[in-house]
Amino acid sequence: MLKRADRDSLQRIVGKENMFIDKAHLIAYSYDATRTRFEPDAVIFPKNENEISKILKYCNDKNINVVPRGAGSGFTGGAIPSSGGIVLALEKYMNKIIEIDMDNMVVVVQPGVINIDLQKAVEKVGLFYPPDPASQEYSTIGGNVSENAGGMRAAKYGITKDYVMAIRAVLPNGEIIKAGKRTIKDVAGYNIVGILIASEGTLAVITEITLKLLSKPKFSKTAMAIFPTVENAMSAVFKTMAGGVTPVAMEFLDNLTIRAVEQNYKKGLPIDAGAILVTDVDGNLEEDLNLQLAKIEEIFKENGATDFKRAKDQKEASDIWFARRNASQAISIYGSKKINEDVTVPRSKLPETLRRFGEIAKKYNINIPCFGHAGDGNIHTNVMVDGKDPKQVEIAHQAIDEVFKVTIELGGTLSGEHGIGLSKAPYMKLAFTESEMELFRSIKKAFDPNNILNPNKMGL
Ligand SMILES: Cc1cc2nc3c(=O)[nH]c(=O)nc-3n(C[C@H](O)[C@H](O)[C@H](O)COP(=O)(O)OP(=O)(O)OC[C@H]3O[C@@H](n4cnc5c(N)ncnc54)[C@H](O)[C@@H]3O)c2cc1C
Repeated sequence: MLKRADRDSLQRIVGKENMFIDKAHLIAYSYDATRTRFEPDAVIFPKNENEISKILKYCNDKNINVVPRGAGSGFTGGAIPSSGGIVLALEKYMNKIIEIDMDNMVVVVQPGVINIDLQKAVEKVGLFYPPDPASQEYSTIGGNVSENAGGMRAAKYGITKDYVMAIRAVLPNGEIIKAGKRTIKDVAGYNIVGILIASEGTLAVITEITLKLLSKPKFSKTAMAIFPTVENAMSAVFKTMAGGVTPVAMEFLDNLTIRAVEQNYKKGLPIDAGAILVTDVDGNLEEDLNLQLAKIEEIFKENGATDFKRAKDQKEASDIWFARRNASQAISIYGSKKINEDVTVPRSKLPETLRRFGEIAKKYNINIPCFGHAGDGNIHTNVMVDGKDPKQVEIAHQAIDEVFKVTIELGGTLSGEHGIGLSKAPYMKLAFTESEMELFRSIKKAFDPNNILNPNKMGL
């Protein structure tokens, strides 16, 4: 609970109309996509960087926790105020595109800009911002940077970190810092931009982001292939990526996912297939796209593909993508509780990873449908059980432990895009040594010596 004096002081900074302590606001800002709930003591909507600086300085002096928040679409509890304090909600006022610099091909935005709004604004002038998380319709650029979000186009274009050139941020003591430049090259000093990316609101509040843009490719084409086993499909993925073609997207659905999509939506998918791969290519010359698809088809067939279908038009392309886009909802047929992880492995380890996840499912007699961004080794691994049965939930957690162990053993990472937050914090010890964790804690301490900014996240 905030003391009356603290409430009054914070209200004086932002105005009464921008600070809330009523139950409706506290509930609305208590959860994210994990649906874990912790109510904050207050919700504050700052209007600008100056107000954020004053709020942080005040909270730092009084030891009040502050949790920055974008759209609250995070999958690991990053924006949840699990240790109380105030939620600093940036979506209401801090949502302007400040500048599109055509000559340098950069855009400068406030953190609350929604990803799709940025994409549309730059595409209007012939430029292109590739990171396209499935949450693009509502997640914010501040949240994308803080989680280092990825998307369907990552196989060719990389992820959020590949586009962040500079950041303005407020430190917990209220000081404003500028990291990075609007330059292609910048090797002066430590890479503070790099440290802030994926820092999950634990180091500073990001108030302005400068992003690199590309030219928008003129054409794109889509294809889908069917494989007898998931291992065949995974071999095809890494052989293609290493084989001289770089598809924009290379997404997969395993057999359980294919069956779930078909049961829900009746799209005529091959329910006996071991896996489906969906791929997109793009470029400025149509014939180049045809050459890319021909090469992909050749490598897919060498790796066991039994069918390779090129979309003839936009409608067919949308139909092909429908299965992938609706995979997440469809697999709910396998259980009311889904523990959804986004482990990532080196691409060459995909066949073994998927095989071993299958063994885990067999051992516990549960379904683990997998789908996702095979082109970048990122597997959405979904442990599905009956949420009303505590025994099943316990089994699900044991299976997840094993999923993480296999991933780390094969040189992979706990998270490719969703971050650590609260939900993966217990597994940090599995992935990092004590000295590595100590280094993380030292970085946290250097930015936030009083530990007021999003405390107890990332296993720190
Ligand atoms: C249906 C669905 C699909 C999704 N698909 C994808 C996907 O394809 N790829 C992917 O990567 N993710 C995906 N996500 C997860 C989520 O959308 C991303 O992590 C996204 O980047 C979070 O943005 P947000 O604005 O909602 O941030 P929030 O959830 O509000 O916050 C996320 C973290 O960022 C911190 N933060 C937010 N703004 C700031 C700031 N200005 N300064 C400092 N810290 C800040 C918060 O404290 C928190 O730790 C999906 C989520 C859903 C619900």
